[in-house]
Amino acid sequence: MNVTTEGTRHGAALRIGGCSAVELAREHGTPLYVYDEDGLRRHCRDYRTALAAAWPRTTVAYAVKAFGAAAMLRLAVEEGLDLDVASVGELATARHARVPGERITFHGVAKRPEELAAAVRAGVGTVAVDAVDEVADLIDACRSAGARQRVLLRVNPGTDVATDARYRTSGDETKFGLPIADGSARAALRAALASPSLIVEGVHFHLGSQLMTAGPYVDAMHRVAAFLDRDAQGWRPARIVLGGGMGVRYGPGAQAPTPAEWAAALVPPFAELLAPRCADGVSLGIEPGRSVVAAHGWTLYRVGAVKPRSTPGEATVVVDGGLSDNPRPLMYSATHEVLAAAAPAAAATLLAHVYGRHCETDLLFPAVALPGLRRGDVLAVRATGAYTHSMASNYNRFPRSAVVFARDGVSRVVVRRETAEDLLRAEVPA
Ligand SMILES: *Cc1c(COP(=O)(O)O)cnc(C)c1O
Repeated sequence: MNVTTEGTRHGAALRIGGCSAVELAREHGTPLYVYDEDGLRRHCRDYRTALAAAWPRTTVAYAVKAFGAAAMLRLAVEEGLDLDVASVGELATARHARVPGERITFHGVAKRPEELAAAVRAGVGTVAVDAVDEVADLIDACRSAGARQRVLLRVNPGTDVATDARYRTSGDETKFGLPIADGSARAALRAALASPSLIVEGVHFHLGSQLMTAGPYVDAMHRVAAFLDRDAQGWRPARIVLGGGMGVRYGPGAQAPTPAEWAAALVPPFAELLAPRCADGVSLGIEPGRSVVAAHGWTLYRVGAVKPRSTPGEATVVVDGGLSDNPRPLMYSATHEVLAAAAPAAAATLLAHVYGRHCETDLLFPAVALPGLRRGDVLAVRATGAYTHSMASNYNRFPRSAVVFARDGVSRVVVRRETAEDLLRAEVPA
């Protein structure tokens, strides 16, 4: 990661992409999302090269929902990734970023007929079918557009994923995908194969998020192999997609598997369990979101208030953002490392309980050891690159924060800060 601390008059200050975090806050305002652009590019390339080295035909699709700014989508495509979109809005953003339709897979649970039609009209490369009922609507959309559409069947293999229940998208209780166990996957396959409008390319699954080992993927591969043996009746997939979910370690010092480690863990079981049941030259795909972007993004806040607590050495610290720019601490009990941007290595003298400034008790970061803080100081929160900007809201009518890419000491705004006018954009005069 291109993050360094550098000696200054005031000690060692945090730099992101070669830019001083304190200067970034001054220049662009706070709260501010800052991405180390080289880190993003390197991570995209690492996934591409690691997978391509391990299997002859591979695709890596970036899951747009993790961080969906047009500049990120452009960057991912420039680095050789395809895109997964999960809504018409994400599709429109991809088209705005000049991403060719064939590099886009259209996902989503309970897609509306008109959304399927919009995806077909946009010429998306692939539609991932999530429910039996979607097949007929997709066929209608193809007929209206006079188009044929490649599809993947998103199956629910039934794999029980050992991750937080809020991250799980496989197993008995999920709303996602076509269950293999109850015959839904088989019914959708039959219906899709019977239609001249659809080209059934292959099988897709996505098990959940924050997975740290290959175990669940291998379990799902066993289940898909059994499905192909039992239900495919001679059909051989040309493509298998193992989904995303590759985990990120949010704590200090901890490590998550690298793209090369994922490739080394996933490709051999794919070669053994699935490739022999597939068409010759089968393509293998993955679709990471979080793990591409999380580690390369920071959020900068300014301290708005420091309030003493009855316990000596502890304080309540309120920053100028919170729930609206990062709902993950409240939604997922997510934890992040927090640094004082001006002096990240300075000795800790304070146990800070960092709150946002919304009309909620939005405790963001409990019990953080920090140097003494004053109103106006800049705090930098590490590894907030995923599911923050994309989950941001206007709660309390706060304008959404700007996004900046930093590289070689130069920063550029890729999403401008919202204004009061933006907040009123959709309002009908009262
Ligand atoms: C969310 C999602 C992903 C990406 O998940 P991450 O945990 O961010 O890697 C990939 N594929 C599908 C279908 C998804 O819904």
